[in-house]
Amino acid sequence: MDKPIYVTQPSLPELEEFIPYLQQIWDNKILTNNGPLHQQLENELALFLNVPYISLFANGTLALVTALQALNITGEVITTPYSFVATTHSLWWNNIKPVFVDIEPEFGNLDPEKMEAAITTKTTAIMPVHVYGNPCKVNRLKEIADYYGLKLIYDAAHCFGVKHQGIGICNYGDLSILSFHATKVFNTMEGGAIISHDKETKRHIDYLKNFGFAGETTIIATGINSKMNEMQAALGLVQLKHYDENIAKRKRIAVTYRNQLKNARGIFLLPEAQDTESNYAYFPIFVDEKEYRMSRDALYEKLKQNNIFGRRYFYPLISEFSMYSSLESSSPDNLTVAQKMANEVICLPMYPDLDLKTVENICSFIQYK
Ligand SMILES: *Cc1c(COP(=O)(O)O)cnc(C)c1O
Repeated sequence: MDKPIYVTQPSLPELEEFIPYLQQIWDNKILTNNGPLHQQLENELALFLNVPYISLFANGTLALVTALQALNITGEVITTPYSFVATTHSLWWNNIKPVFVDIEPEFGNLDPEKMEAAITTKTTAIMPVHVYGNPCKVNRLKEIADYYGLKLIYDAAHCFGVKHQGIGICNYGDLSILSFHATKVFNTMEGGAIISHDKETKRHIDYLKNFGFAGETTIIATGINSKMNEMQAALGLVQLKHYDENIAKRKRIAVTYRNQLKNARGIFLLPEAQDTESNYAYFPIFVDEKEYRMSRDALYEKLKQNNIFGRRYFYPLISEFSMYSSLESSSPDNLTVAQKMANEVICLPMYPDLDLKTVENICSFIQYK
């Protein structure tokens, strides 16, 4: 490749489209604290995502941290090691002990069938991740959570706009968290959200993201400052107009990758999720070192030398980072499926403006070594 191709490239609208919103902010001098654009984005997103209540945040990590605080989660929480590190860090910030459970090999999501052995008297919640935007086994997870009286909080950072079993994926669980970071399918540069199911919970979350203020002189909890500002909200409103066209472009790229790579020896792809409207957020491939006769890392380096910068999402596992590696549940024997996926994965470049010719070129580097 003549120019470097990175794993992602943030989507931005034309600058001209954004200017009138900036003008509005400059005119009315409201920069943050639940301003008009913030309110408008909350309304539009609730409709677009088909969810009852949404609270916007400065970023997804603070949304995760606040979601746990909002539900008074304490003690131990069952979670996945195969994710971005923020999932587990949000537990740490709430003084909660993460308990890692292995993932299932089909999509790499938390395996409900391995979960029950990890539940103790201290367990208060389950925090799964819909990895790469593919839905977790939501019905089974709900069954287990209900049976043991646990809260279910989804890190839905990858699955903006995904529909599963005919409804918006963020309707599952007690709360779901989205990220609007620059690298995600829908971005507000930085940003995030919590989806909740009733007015009282939303109101409580809105207090928590504003220091705990429930009125001019009333503080109801040790809240933090994690409010989305008006610039972020403005960008979100413009981005939303282009969402469908961006997803259509991502779909064409995913189809091209799939067609080119489906018969590549030693390269494995995830199946397409059933009963799901995907957002094509990522395109992970898995390199079987024996069959491919080259290691994942060797292929990763070879692609880099050819100006193709994939990313090994998610390697290393969160359980391998020093602050978590001494936990009993971090033992590699407990996480064999996660270990294998982490050692085989490369996420290939995927963003709306990636042209199909480049996708074919990337595939030819992978097919013929
Ligand atoms: C991106 C991401 C986050 C963090 O979101 P930020 O908005 O970057 O704080 C959390 N969890 C997962 C799985 C993510 O991919």
